[in-house]
Amino acid sequence: MRHFAVVGSGPAGFYTAEALEKAYGDQARIDILDRYPVPYGLIRFGVAPDHQSLKAVSKRYDKVAERAGVDFIGNVTVGADISVAELLELYDAVILATGAPHDRKLGIPGEDLPGVVGSAEFVGWYNGHPEFADLDPFLHGAHAAVVGNGNVALDCARILAKTRHEFEGSDIVGHALDALDHSAIRTITILGRRGPHQIAMTPKELGELGHLEAAVPVVEPSDFPPVEADEPLEPGLRKSVTLLRGFADLQQDKAKHMVFDFFAKPLRVEGDGKVERLIVERTELDEKGAARGTGETYEVPASLVITAIGYSTSPIPDVPFEGGKFVNEGGRIADRLYAVGWARRGPSGTIGTNRPDGYEVAEQIAAAMPAEGSGGREGATALKRLLESRGVMPTDYDDWRKIEETEVSRARPGSPREKFVRHQDWLQVLGR
Ligand SMILES: Cc1cc2nc3c(=O)[nH]c(=O)nc-3n(C[C@H](O)[C@H](O)[C@H](O)COP(=O)(O)OP(=O)(O)OC[C@H]3O[C@@H](n4cnc5c(N)ncnc54)[C@H](O)[C@@H]3O)c2cc1C
Repeated sequence: MRHFAVVGSGPAGFYTAEALEKAYGDQARIDILDRYPVPYGLIRFGVAPDHQSLKAVSKRYDKVAERAGVDFIGNVTVGADISVAELLELYDAVILATGAPHDRKLGIPGEDLPGVVGSAEFVGWYNGHPEFADLDPFLHGAHAAVVGNGNVALDCARILAKTRHEFEGSDIVGHALDALDHSAIRTITILGRRGPHQIAMTPKELGELGHLEAAVPVVEPSDFPPVEADEPLEPGLRKSVTLLRGFADLQQDKAKHMVFDFFAKPLRVEGDGKVERLIVERTELDEKGAARGTGETYEVPASLVITAIGYSTSPIPDVPFEGGKFVNEGGRIADRLYAVGWARRGPSGTIGTNRPDGYEVAEQIAAAMPAEGSGGREGATALKRLLESRGVMPTDYDDWRKIEETEVSRARPGSPREKFVRHQDWLQVLGR
């Protein structure tokens, strides 16, 4: 019997467990560990609450968790409750699928002023992440700015723009819904250092902006190259750029405006004790397509600034780490130690991009460790013994179902659930 520990229960962790289960059948036990008693990583805490169809991918992960050889072990933080070296003693292989939960910083003066928040914090706040339940983003001014030109920036801007009615059917947490309902924000400026041809926004997410109840997107036609220049673009990007161009024809007759400010590089954040404005430099593209400052500067008023410019992984003691992710070659970090998903590649791609990662690493493991063999390791039995001796109380998949059922039973009208937003609430539901 083989024993495998997958650390992290987001998409990468679940695809890896699925692949290992397929490769080994009943010859292996696969434990998916997570620091929280609730699984699915960014499917729960990142993907926008008004994109329920995407969140439904967790049903596939449920099926994996229900298989006989797979267990979910929550409430265990690897690197704090147990080290990677200890896990390697107990398991034949350890696969790190810990994601990339930390916001990259802008690295400009004033960034630490109150009112500047990272997208991981803001997204976590509206998605019920326990670390960000108390974020209380400042929604009382008329202007907000979102820095970044990817889908996460669009998520943040859209959530700021929607009406209460538009959150029907979503699982946005109650505290965020109420705060957003009373928001005074009327202008949301979305800043990107380069132009419309360099965006990382996809057509579905952009298209939504054209149909909002109380908000309308605004673009400046002179930011676009001649329309013939769209021809050689990759089809998805071409579609996105066509959508953006189309925003110029929309009637500007709604209460809120989502202003695309291209060729805009934030230089510093200013304000008296809290953010009041961004000082921005106008840019242009150089010969290599990079943003080059023109020296022209201007102000963007903002009493809330959300930075959405990428993420990095949390280091874990004794695991080589560089450039915001674990050092690996094709997923292999060291003997019997692997990384998958954002912890392996950095924060890019869609949910599905994590699937080949998991399958590739499972193939490497299966090639190195035949199903018939045994490393003589004890896996979960020894893990639980060790955790107990340290006063750590692991949770299991049934515990998660109990939390989920309780969340569903507390749902507001028009919402599939009302999430618990604090670690102690999860444990209280479990009677711990
Ligand atoms: C705001 C946002 C919105 C997104 N929206 C979409 C979308 O609409 N469509 C789409 O296709 N993709 C979307 N993505 C991308 C998608 O969420 C990622 O591709 C995917 O979640 C990455 O999977 P992962 O398993 O590597 O990491 P994660 O999903 O982050 O999972 C990591 C897991 O590891 C656990 N963990 C971390 N450290 C430890 C530790 N030390 N010990 C134990 N457990 C630990 C975490 O609790 C978490 O459960 C979005 C991403 C973000 C940030």
